[in-house]
Amino acid sequence: MEFYSRRARSITPYTAGEQPKSGIYVKLNTNENPYPPSPRVAEAIASFPCENLRRYPNPDADDLRDAIARVEGVSRENVFVSNGSDEALALAFAAFFDDERAACFADVTYSFYEVFAAMFGVKTHVVPLQEDFALDLAAMREAECGGYFIANPNAPTGIVVPAGEMEQFIASVPQKLVVLDEAYTDFSGETCAPLIQKYPNLLVIKTFSKSHSLAGIRCGYAVGAPALIGGLMRMKNSFNSYPVDAVCAAACAASLADTEYHDRTVRLVVEERERLRRALEGLGMTVLPSGSNFLFAGRAAVPAGEIYARLKEEGVLVRYWNRPRISDFCRITVGTPQDDDILLEKLKKILS
Ligand code: PMP
Repeated sequence: MEFYSRRARSITPYTAGEQPKSGIYVKLNTNENPYPPSPRVAEAIASFPCENLRRYPNPDADDLRDAIARVEGVSRENVFVSNGSDEALALAFAAFFDDERAACFADVTYSFYEVFAAMFGVKTHVVPLQEDFALDLAAMREAECGGYFIANPNAPTGIVVPAGEMEQFIASVPQKLVVLDEAYTDFSGETCAPLIQKYPNLLVIKTFSKSHSLAGIRCGYAVGAPALIGGLMRMKNSFNSYPVDAVCAAACAASLADTEYHDRTVRLVVEERERLRRALEGLGMTVLPSGSNFLFAGRAAVPAGEIYARLKEEGVLVRYWNRPRISDFCRITVGTPQDDDILLEKLKKILS
């Protein structure tokens, strides 16, 4: 502690969801995909020429940038690749915001934003969600700031702003940067990534962790105008020149190539989300509308902290935050139908 900088002493780090060591839990707490990655990922890793590992990887992971560019319908200059999308988000705070140019975000959203802001000494402007947990885009538009971090679908609520409405917002703030965190967008089908061609103030950030089932490999990316990608590159090259290793780049490119598998597993998760929603509502729970791979649910009569604790005793992990406005809800990741049936059985017992 005596050696800590002032920043290290004062910062409150982000708390990730528990990763229990024992296998007894049905793990529905960190929005991981319940299905394994595409078999092509295993093939790419198995056939990776290990002798190449003595060399540094391509610093910008250009082959993977090209693969992403093809999928997103943009060019390599529009793509930046990072070690998890968390890293792209962090570098966006560092590249585009500071103590004078404030970053605006919602009071209830991905809680890493406030940590990144503190880490890089960025001024913040927090706008409360509306009563029904919808984003207050009208209030955000008026905020005095240099730009926005918007998770769409939002986390932990799962609520989606349709792409058309988001475009109106982006078009209405041409002098401000809009960073859209689309970590869960494949489960909503409402991506704004194609709009980067039209709006130089739009940066869209995506991840391989959720719909590609690759949380363990740590890869994310940003798409935007070349000037924005250049800003991220400046920061990356001032911190870690090689954030994406060669095995990771090959695995992610293989996953992108298997669109059939990707779309099929996404469809399974979305169908199961709707089944789980109906079942939770059947147990008398309030469930927010979700376009993601998780549901935010609670029941007024039973404290959500108690639901979380009792489920944990029963071997089922969900996520709970004892924070203003959201302490009546648990965030439940959509699992396999088998996992979700165990959750539902335990919940039935706890709620009765
Ligand atoms: N954005 C949101 C909204 C998230 O929930 C997460 C996952 N914790 C991330 C970004 C980061 O994901 P990753 O670093 O695994 O790409």
